[in-house]
Amino acid sequence: MIDCQNLMKIYKIDDDNEVIALQGLDLQVEKGEMMGIIGNSGSGKSTLLNMLGGLDRPTAGKLIVDGKDLLRLSDKDLVKYKLETVGFVWQNNARNLIPYLTAVENVELPMLIKGKHKRERAKELLEMVGMGHRINNKLHSLSGGEQQRVAIAISLANNPSLILADEPTGSVDTKTADIILDVLRNLNRELGVTIVIVTHDTQLTRKMDRVVAIRDGKTSSEILRRSAYLDM
Ligand code: ADP
Ligand code: ADP
Repeated sequence: MIDCQNLMKIYKIDDDNEVIALQGLDLQVEKGEMMGIIGNSGSGKSTLLNMLGGLDRPTAGKLIVDGKDLLRLSDKDLVKYKLETVGFVWQNNARNLIPYLTAVENVELPMLIKGKHKRERAKELLEMVGMGHRINNKLHSLSGGEQQRVAIAISLANNPSLILADEPTGSVDTKTADIILDVLRNLNRELGVTIVIVTHDTQLTRKMDRVVAIRDGKTSSEILRRSAYLDM
């Protein structure tokens, strides 16, 4: 699903200054894997997710996702890739969720499909994340964990083959974090969607197939591999 080799990302600050955020990063992710990424603050995790999601372009290297060569796609095709292939879940969903709309209205918003199928599909997605009983509640009346589940439903709106989650449990308690991870795990198993999750929470990494550590913009080690999801 993901073949990333010798990936470089250099941010130009001004004529004299630049930041090397990724320096020769290698990463391979199989289709259907649920993969964790850990690493210190500033190690390049968010930069990597932004590259994988087509939100920004790598400076050099190779990055193939779902058969698409992200360094060579035109701007238009990169946007198409982002909309059609990738679902995003962030720590802070304020940018994606509208507080005064209901859960189901929030899920309908980004959908490319039109008409009454939209409402049905939105309901179906909310059921998949265990929010079927809350579809008509306004977003602001939901708990943080419930809002995060709505955000996960939104990430599924356009049938992505890849979900990218940046600290999806960063602002919830540990019990809620467990629920959110289980929701992602179920989607991974039921839909076969590949999931890459950046997390600080080493407790949660036991729920993943594989965890890779990033250090100074490079993959530093693979700390865990699990062939089966044993202790859910
Ligand atoms: P992490 O997600 O692991 O905390 P980031 O990918 O956010 O790391 O950052 C990696 C490095 O790149 C840091 O030194 C950060 O300051 C820098 N960086 C990230 N985004 C930008 C940007 N848009 N412009 C300049 N520097 C950036
Ligand atoms: P924080 O971890 O500081 O709360 P977020 O999790 O909101 O930040 O965002 C992590 C990364 O994702 C940042 O690089 C941010 O620019 C990007 N990002 C956040 N929300 C969106 C969005 N709706 N669309 C595109 N990029 C986003």
